[in-house]
This record gives sequence, structure tokens and C-alpha cells, in this order.
Amino acid sequence: MLVVKFGGTSVGKPERMKKIANLVTDMPGRKIVVLSALSGTTNALVKIGEALSAGQPMAAETEIAILEKHYLAFVKELYESSSYQAIGEEIVSRYFSLFRLLAAGKFDDRSYRELLAQGELISTELFYHHCQERKINARLLPALHFMSIDENQEPELGKISERLKPILETMSSANLLITQGYICRNHRNEIDNLKRGGSDYTASLIGAAIRAEEIQIWTDIDGMHNNDPRVVKKTIPIAELTFDEASELAYFGAKILHPSTIVPAQKYNVPVRLKNTMDEKAFGTLISEKGTSGQFKAIAAKDGITAVNIKSSRMLLAYGFLRRVFEVFEKHKTSIDMISTSEVAVSITIDDSQQLDSIVSDLKTFGNIEVDKNQTIICIVGNRLEEKEGVLKDVFQSLAQVPIRMVSYGGSRNNISLLVDTSQKEKVLTLLNEGLFGL
Ligand code: ASP
Ligand code: MG
Repeated sequence: MLVVKFGGTSVGKPERMKKIANLVTDMPGRKIVVLSALSGTTNALVKIGEALSAGQPMAAETEIAILEKHYLAFVKELYESSSYQAIGEEIVSRYFSLFRLLAAGKFDDRSYRELLAQGELISTELFYHHCQERKINARLLPALHFMSIDENQEPELGKISERLKPILETMSSANLLITQGYICRNHRNEIDNLKRGGSDYTASLIGAAIRAEEIQIWTDIDGMHNNDPRVVKKTIPIAELTFDEASELAYFGAKILHPSTIVPAQKYNVPVRLKNTMDEKAFGTLISEKGTSGQFKAIAAKDGITAVNIKSSRMLLAYGFLRRVFEVFEKHKTSIDMISTSEVAVSITIDDSQQLDSIVSDLKTFGNIEVDKNQTIICIVGNRLEEKEGVLKDVFQSLAQVPIRMVSYGGSRNNISLLVDTSQKEKVLTLLNEGLFGL
């Protein structure tokens, strides 16, 4: 079975939604189609939710009305016959009544999460009826019946798999099963979500849960690129990546994938293929176990990083020092991205600085603390880079004119990470593009 996910832009226009119906009917065998909300919808729902949380129902109603207009125009173009037009209008009216009902009640965190979930529910319902109108044998597979996270917000892969199997059996007559990305239930059985961009994660979790042949993620770009197309002028798509390389890239800023997407797929060795809905002939990127070694594959950048430097003479020849430092970050539930140590100092980076003040105040007992904000991690990825001669020379030569705050190499065999001030990011990405890829 295939798991095929389409992102917001792939379903964001009626003609695109029609096109993906063609694409999936042309694919052989049985498939589960995972859809995002129409592009812009989740952002609009966030805005509505924020307005309601701030006690501004009028502002929320303005947004609701704009969104409703958009959906009414959408169904008008999506459906051909008058009977399906009526179905489309009924769907829109039902969802927008719910939004107004949520807006009128006591708006708490739970209502907010319920509101956020509606984007994927409406997109899948619209698509399902489009398939019905075209007599495509499809069924709706409600994500809220099987997708769940535990009290630590971690997906429950085992339970997801146990719940999915019997549901799929009862739907054995349909070749096309349509489900919602992003949404799930939490340990209190409330509606929740897998965080922004989570539809990719849904596809990977389903793929792993049913041991699919392949997980396909269809977006609006032809796969992962060797560098950030929003920053540098010329980038090239990468045909093949290993799971490890793709994980590093997704985590360190390649916006094309939700950072956790690769984890479940890799666990059960299900290949992930990235494809472009706007250009289905383009090869895209195949992420699997196999891969070529000793080559620079790609560069990604992650902004919003804070570096914390701890300088302490007590570190000299002491054991247990790093443990005590790490415990401070653990206590404040803040994960560490990069570390680099010398005999008397250690630098650590974090991307979530909500607890920074408390962390710094606890660390002060160890020595002198310095904090650098607005840093960017540049992550250079390649499988078994240590097998390539002169990797570091190539990197440093390219960046001869740029100040580098931290370097991390050897932590994994697939990456070299550099920390630079965010003001240097564009320059660094451009120089590496020239120096490592000749672009
Ligand atoms: N609709 C959600 C979002 O915009 C999930 C997704 O598209 O992956 O974040
Ligand atoms: Mg996405």
C-alpha cells in the first residue's frame, strides 16, 4: 500500500484538487491519501483563535467571513453538477456554523485546538465528495479514530497501528482512503494536533504503522534542494538521500519536511519520496536506507538560535561537570542542538529560549556565562563525510572571510554544523553553494 500526502498548496485551488484526484487514480494499487488544509487555512484559523483568545470576537468574525467567502468560491469551482454544488454549500455552511459556535462559547485552549483541526477535516470532506462526483471509489478514513499522542505529545505508533489495521479491513472494498493530516487525539481523548506542518508526520506515521511500500510527500517543489532556494539564487534538487541525511536536513531548517517526518519511516525502513504536484514528471527526492557516501549533499540553515557559553575553571580536570550543566537544561525542559567544549569552557546552543533567564541564572553557579542571540546553525550534510578527503578544508576555505562562532564535526557521520551570526547567513550559504557545489 502507498501513503500519499498532499500539502496545502497541492489542494489549495479547485483545479489542483481535481489534478490530485487524477494523480492518485493513476497510481497502482491501494493507497491512503493524507491531505493538509487548503493553503492559508491553518494560518487563518490561528488568527481567528488568537482573536478569540484575546477576547476580540468582532476581529474573529471578520476573519471567519473572509475565509467563508473563499470556501464558497472554492466549492463553486470544484463541483460540476448542481446536486454536488448543494453538497459543497452544505459542507461549508456546516463548518462555518461550527466556527461561529466555537466563537460564541467560552473559548479555551481546548476550543482552540478543535478550531485548528477543522482545516484538514473540511479539505478531506471536499475532496471526498469530489471523488464521489467523479465516481472514484473512495472512502473517508477519520484520523481522529486512530491517530493519537501520549501525555508527552509523542505519537503512539503501536496503538495507531493496532487501531488502523481493523479499520482498513472493514474498508477493503475501497482502493482510495482519504484521511486528515496534522490532527490527532491526545491522552485525554481531546482533539489535538502534531504541530504546524504536521501532515508530513501523519503520512510517515501511517506509513510506518501499516509498513507501507512507500510514503510520498507531494509539495510545490521538486524535492529537497542542495541549499535554501529562498536565500541563494541557484539550487539543485537532490535525487537521493539517506534517512539520516534527510533527518538532519529536516531538523536543521529544510522547510520542505516537518522535522520528525523521517523518524517513523526510518524505524520500519519505508522509503519516503518527495514529489512536486506542479511538475509530476520531475524525479523529486528518494529518501531511503541506501545512499552514496563521502559527498556533500545539501546545506540547511536554522535561525533563531541562542548560544550559551559557560566558562569555569572548575571544569579543568573535573569529572561530572558536563552532567551538571546538562541537568540545568533538562530541568528547564530545553533541548540542546550543538555543543562544543574546550578544557575550561563549553558552548551550547538552544532553539527555544523561553526558559533562557532561568537557565542562565542556574548556570551562574558554575562560572561566567555569556549569551549570544540571533545565531544561525548552518548544517552541511552528506553520508559518511569522514570518508571524504579534505572535507573541512573545503568548508573552511569557502568561508575564509566569515567569522564562525562554533563548529561541530564528528558527532554524526553525516554532518558538519557551524554556528554563525544570523547577519552572516546569506553570505555563508552563498559561499558554500559556490565552494562545495560549484553553483
Ligand atoms: N495544516 C497544517 C499547517 O498548516 C498542517 C500541514 O499542512 O502540514 O501547519
Ligand atoms: Mg508542510
